[in-house]
Amino acid sequence: MSTGNGFVPPKQLIDPFQRSIDYLRVSVTDRCNLRCVYCMPEEGVPSVPHQEVLTLEEIGRIIRLAAGMGLRRVRLTGGEPLVRKGVVNLVRLASQTPGIEDISLTTNAILLPSHARELAAAGLKRVNVSLDTLRPQRFRQITRRGDLSDVMAGIAAAREAGLLPIRLNVVVMRGVNDDEVVDIARTTLEEDWQVRFIELMPFMDEQETCIRDASLTLGFVPTRGVQRQIEEALGPLEAAETNTGSGPAKYYRLAAARGLIGFISPLSETRFCATCNRMRLTADGKLRPCLLTDQEIDLKQTLREGGSDDDLRQRILEALASKPDAHHLSEGNRPHRRKMAQIGG
Ligand code: SAM
Repeated sequence: MSTGNGFVPPKQLIDPFQRSIDYLRVSVTDRCNLRCVYCMPEEGVPSVPHQEVLTLEEIGRIIRLAAGMGLRRVRLTGGEPLVRKGVVNLVRLASQTPGIEDISLTTNAILLPSHARELAAAGLKRVNVSLDTLRPQRFRQITRRGDLSDVMAGIAAAREAGLLPIRLNVVVMRGVNDDEVVDIARTTLEEDWQVRFIELMPFMDEQETCIRDASLTLGFVPTRGVQRQIEEALGPLEAAETNTGSGPAKYYRLAAARGLIGFISPLSETRFCATCNRMRLTADGKLRPCLLTDQEIDLKQTLREGGSDDDLRQRILEALASKPDAHHLSEGNRPHRRKMAQIGG
């Protein structure tokens, strides 16, 4: 159906490589209450001034328009999404948007005890919690300021609020936590968590990963090495399905385990990008077709110059058209402009 000026918005977002893009990761803030060594330098990143951050209404408008073009799932992220005031209202707005079937959140869980219930009541379905270690001292070292007990309290609050299944994201780093993958995998025997081991992506320079009392060299570990370690210690992993969509993770189960173990291999899996179904909206209003490529389309400018719905739809289509076939890291491509916290992981 035409919108009046001859422009007919598509019913589905199909990119030039015939991938259907129905998933948007929305960074609601670039601010974070932690400083994870693989994500942000210790001093943080220069914060986007408040007036440059999209308002919740602006984000809601983009979600509504994209939903009319085939967007089905939204994940709120950051920075730490729970440090943004009004994030519960955004969940409510998104969950009431026709077409949106699923809203989830990626969080460090520290603020979940005070937010989990109202998030669930507003329509949030699930949470992914970042947790790279089960050792309190190491947790402090990796996050440079957090307390593991706060994360555990956050996970408990998510469970009580019914934000299930709980997925744990573990970035595996040689020399930092690669000696712990078996212990972390073992938790799935008793807990119904979906533990996902993720390959480290190259967002940080070496000197930026330093912490005051120790210099960590964050080494890359391919997920097949993690899988081998787990199988040698705990027995074979059987391929498993999830009923909430697995995205880029491949899931497995240890015999008689309650939970699942997933592997996310953006670097070592050659066809990783072939099934990419997402774009990202940064807190300062840039639509980023690929996490690992610097190309961005400025939606904020269109919004704030009084752009019409059709103008915004056209900009969304421009981003879609510029989505690369793959990240091309092996050919030397690197994301230079932003750290992970400034994009939204
Ligand atoms: N603050 C929230 C959190 O801690 O989950 C959301 C933002 S954080 C940037 C989102 C996810 O990105 C986390 O699971 C984190 O582990 C992951 N991440 C950040 N930097 C990464 C990197 N260099 N390589 C792989 N994953 C990374």
